[in-house]
Amino acid sequence: MKKYFRIVIIVAVPVMLLGMLYMSRRSSGVVEVNSGFRVVMGTFSRVVVIARSQRAAQRCIEAAFDVQNRIEALMSDFRADSELSKVNRLAAQGPVPVSEMTFEVLQQSVHFSTLSEGAFDVTVGPLVDLWRKAGKMDVPPTDEALAEARRKVGSDKLILDEKNRTVRFAVAGMRVDLGGIGKGYAVDKAVEAMRKCGARGGLVDLGGNIRCFGRPPQDQERWRIGLQDPNVAPDEFGGTKPLLILALANESVATSGDYRRFVKVQGQKQSHIIDTATGQGANKLVSDTIIASDATTADALSTAVNVLGLEKGLALVERVSGAEAILIPAGKEAQLIFSRGARAYLVPSSEAARPDEK
Ligand code: AMP
Ligand code: MG
Repeated sequence: MKKYFRIVIIVAVPVMLLGMLYMSRRSSGVVEVNSGFRVVMGTFSRVVVIARSQRAAQRCIEAAFDVQNRIEALMSDFRADSELSKVNRLAAQGPVPVSEMTFEVLQQSVHFSTLSEGAFDVTVGPLVDLWRKAGKMDVPPTDEALAEARRKVGSDKLILDEKNRTVRFAVAGMRVDLGGIGKGYAVDKAVEAMRKCGARGGLVDLGGNIRCFGRPPQDQERWRIGLQDPNVAPDEFGGTKPLLILALANESVATSGDYRRFVKVQGQKQSHIIDTATGQGANKLVSDTIIASDATTADALSTAVNVLGLEKGLALVERVSGAEAILIPAGKEAQLIFSRGARAYLVPSSEAARPDEK
């Protein structure tokens, strides 16, 4: 009996150890596939997928790009045949029926407009057009032109009929511009598509609007996102040493600022983000980075906070559950300001040797 017991142990222990080894191999048996950059919505998009197999990962990558391309076809400003262009052409004459996705983005836009007391407002189009023209002509707009454009701006003039899924403008000459929210929305939909197709984890980066979820790359506890220093010019590869590195699990991050995109009018820099209260380019912050639970929220809040500036911007972020901000106020000395919980996402500089993203 004793002998039998010994044999069982001698056989069972190695079998158990082998089994555990096999299970641990199996549990780490995932691949990481990076799509590389593709052009979507006038910017670069990249997807990283953690999946069971190369084939599964590739399927998820294609699903993520498919939905981003569909959203671009619906919401592009530049395509005359997009649903958004149709809305902008026809909604002053009567209700225009739209797809579920376009309606959802518009509803979200109105929500963020209300939340930010108008700092975020997708009806900003007429002011964007005015400043674009001013940049081209190198002549600032007159007060009359600014006042005229501002009369066509305001989410209260955007009439959304949920029952019939239509959009109408209350005032002629209005124009919806989804530049401050559309990319975030596309990132959320891409993540949804990746999850549906079985990705164990992943990251979508559409022009700096990033969302990650699930299992991070091997040997890492979290997804690492490097934030660029807006005061350092990019090198010839378009990169810079990151200002700081964030460690994220299931969060999104978006940055707004005028350090890359602006027009110059008579030598004066005008941000592409417009303070609808004054009609002028936002100028209170060099940049602001928002961490939020989804990419639509991060995108909309980053634009809103850029308009609102330090105090009001932080107050807005505090009102949104799960949102945090890292701000760089305008001024000579670039200084980082953190919202209450933002530091919890920072990778200590001793561990920050290798950022993986952005
Ligand atoms: P982002 O880079 O996400 O901050 O978005 C900036 C873009 O949003 C601009 O290029 C405009 O297309 C649009 N935009 C400008 N000002 C506003 C605003 N106050 N509210 C919403 N969208 C805006
Ligand atoms: Mg934005």
